[in-house]
Amino acid sequence: MKPIREIYTLIGQPRKVVITMHQKPDADAMGSALGLYHFLLSFHQEVTVISPTNWAKWLNWMPGCNKVVDFELNKDKADQILQEADWVFCLDFNNLARTKNLAPRLEQFKGTRILIDHHQQPEVDKFSYGASDTAKSSTCEMVYDLIAESGNVQRVTKEIAECLYAGVMADTGSFRFPAAAASVHRMVADLKDKGLEHTKVHENIYDSFYENRLRFIGHVLSNRMDVFYEYNTALIAISKKDLLRYEIKTGDSEGLVNYPLSIMGIKMAALVIDRDEERKWSFRSKGDFDVNTFARKYFEGGGHFNASGGRSSDSLEKTVQRFIEAMKENASQLQ
Ligand code: 5GP
Ligand code: MN
Repeated sequence: MKPIREIYTLIGQPRKVVITMHQKPDADAMGSALGLYHFLLSFHQEVTVISPTNWAKWLNWMPGCNKVVDFELNKDKADQILQEADWVFCLDFNNLARTKNLAPRLEQFKGTRILIDHHQQPEVDKFSYGASDTAKSSTCEMVYDLIAESGNVQRVTKEIAECLYAGVMADTGSFRFPAAAASVHRMVADLKDKGLEHTKVHENIYDSFYENRLRFIGHVLSNRMDVFYEYNTALIAISKKDLLRYEIKTGDSEGLVNYPLSIMGIKMAALVIDRDEERKWSFRSKGDFDVNTFARKYFEGGGHFNASGGRSSDSLEKTVQRFIEAMKENASQLQ
């Protein structure tokens, strides 16, 4: 993978471009994709954002979101666009498998694959060009860097600012995680200069749920959370029945895994949801417990040092048992 700066001089040339991101895109994945989309459109390029799957409805406010092609709903259209594309930008994921059923299409893609991502251990041999930096707060910050370093910072519009701010805000836990470096705040200052209304973005992301989601969180925290004080670990396990009872949709469980971390002394929080096709894990940690390695070792996953995810094809009960064994194996790092 060659450094992304090698394409800076090519950015303005007419080209067919696809931008994609990880499945079930979050604010960083969707925000970085749409930020880059508006930037490339400013050069009159032919650009399409293809999401591997559907996304949370609380992302629909993002400018351009109504143009995003959901691969699972429009396979033929997406295939045709991919076939004609010269470049495909892959944002906010470190391996192609994170794009679920789109992965084989990306694998077979004949044009140029470009990575922009901040996760650990990326599959660099799959990309011709790219930027991979785990020190970066978010992929949105990296898209801003690309725009600025290629000498195009004046092209940042209010739309781009809103999309990029959403991702950096979400991935830094509203600017509290260590990755919220001085450069992140400088970028935000520039986005403000470009017209960003940050309060609006916060409200769109954090204050636009339905009542059912809050009731669901109440239920889950009361009845579905186990705290293992001996291991400084908390676990939330959610069944299919819970999802149905509270009519939980894509994105409604986002952020839930962070709640147990607010208990004094808790180092690791884990959340598992019984999805149709798999049991999906989310891990968060405080301090020096590495949940990237934990997710890789036990649950076919990965991510960042303090935030990762994984999966299991076992039943909910079995995967919870496996987690408890794994937690015990890691006692020395957790205690
Ligand atoms: P979340 O718990 O919010 O879904 O994900 C936390 C972090 O871990 C995100 O940065 C996400 O991209 C990454 N992640 C989540 N699930 C997986 C997975 O199954 N595999 C890998 N490699 N990373 C994941
Ligand atoms: Mn991200």
